[in-house]
Amino acid sequence: MSAKKVCSFCGRSEREVPLMITGMNGFICSDCAQQAYRIVMDALPSEKKNDDLGFKLSDLPKPKDIKAYLDEYVIGQDDAKRYLAVSVYNHYKRLAQQTTDDGVEIEKSNIIMVGSTGTGKTLLARTIAKLLHVPFTIVDATVFTEAGYVGEDVESILSRLLQVADYNVEAAQRGIVFIDEIDKIARKSDNPSITRDVSGEGVQQGLLKLLEGSVVNVPPKGGRKHPDQDYIHVDTRNILFICGGAFDGIEKKIAQRMNTHVVGYNSVQNMQHIDKSNLMKYILPQDLKSFGLIPEIIGRLPVLTYLNPLDRTALRNILTEPKNSIVKQQIKLFEMDGIKLSFDEDVLEYIVDKAVEYKLGARGLRSIMETVMMDAMYEVPSKKVKTFKVTLDYAKTQLEKANLSEMKAD
Ligand code: ADP
Repeated sequence: MSAKKVCSFCGRSEREVPLMITGMNGFICSDCAQQAYRIVMDALPSEKKNDDLGFKLSDLPKPKDIKAYLDEYVIGQDDAKRYLAVSVYNHYKRLAQQTTDDGVEIEKSNIIMVGSTGTGKTLLARTIAKLLHVPFTIVDATVFTEAGYVGEDVESILSRLLQVADYNVEAAQRGIVFIDEIDKIARKSDNPSITRDVSGEGVQQGLLKLLEGSVVNVPPKGGRKHPDQDYIHVDTRNILFICGGAFDGIEKKIAQRMNTHVVGYNSVQNMQHIDKSNLMKYILPQDLKSFGLIPEIIGRLPVLTYLNPLDRTALRNILTEPKNSIVKQQIKLFEMDGIKLSFDEDVLEYIVDKAVEYKLGARGLRSIMETVMMDAMYEVPSKKVKTFKVTLDYAKTQLEKANLSEMKAD
């Protein structure tokens, strides 16, 4: 007869705990094991920790390697990729040098990416985090609210980062936070004397607190249930923040600046070299200020880069080129049923046309593909077929049937 399994630490029986782990001469429940892990992480000096998220600079991919990796997943956006690769590399160099003490302190280089929605900002940040195996989380800048407004706050952002780091504080403190829609908290005007607006300075101050590097008290897993339960102290100093925003209309500010600065004969000549179809690439920090970001925030985001709008060719490439492209994913799904899926070339062109027509951008490619494939994904696995070919006629019928107008962007 086997003895009743009772946790040697808390005394609860197998029925009272989520999971019981059996040892040589006793048992430990999953709750106690987790608590023990936390105690170990807090108590041990960092060099003794079995920290698989630690790194050596020599192990880090070099900027060119980072760019090459990004190329596998993200189409185009070469400038943004280079900026990101360099700043991320420098960021981890900065972390590596903190132990040496020659007085030269490398400052953090948080990044801000400006570009229309759906051009790959989030994808870039996510791909970098994947390469580096660091905890990564995405937050929306609109969660920053002035005191008194209901909304998520700084603590909950870090709490999310802790969660993805499995409550390994050290790892979370070296993670990457992507702050989306940073343009939404810009002041409506860069004239500070104008009447206060809700999406204004107070909100940006909340974000500043996070960017500046401070120790934030984060409630432990599942919230702080007892007043005596300790907060987790998370230092944001070494967290890399990557911000993204569409900054709709910022081209006007760029044009204005360029016009006022471009005076005289020489400048007229310079103006002729300007690519007026893509003014975004001339963006400077002062344009962000004109748009309504406070100088303190801009100062904390020293690396400024832009993303190009995606043209037809880029959209076409996005369908098939990335390592986990939409087409490759579809083929894989069918392959798992033993079916060889193929697309006629004009189907892919047609999907791109529709994404352009409905102004859905890259984001739309996926929903259009899903619509085209829905019936096939439903029916084909039950059929005894070995191949399935998507023709232009088939794709057209499927899309028309699905009342595509519902997809139309406003
Ligand atoms: P943003 O953050 O700029 O609004 P996302 O990165 O979320 O845009 O892009 C939305 C989706 O569109 C991504 O999941 C990806 O599938 C696709 N996409 C956008 N831009 C690219 C790109 N340059 N290369 C490959 N896929 C892209």
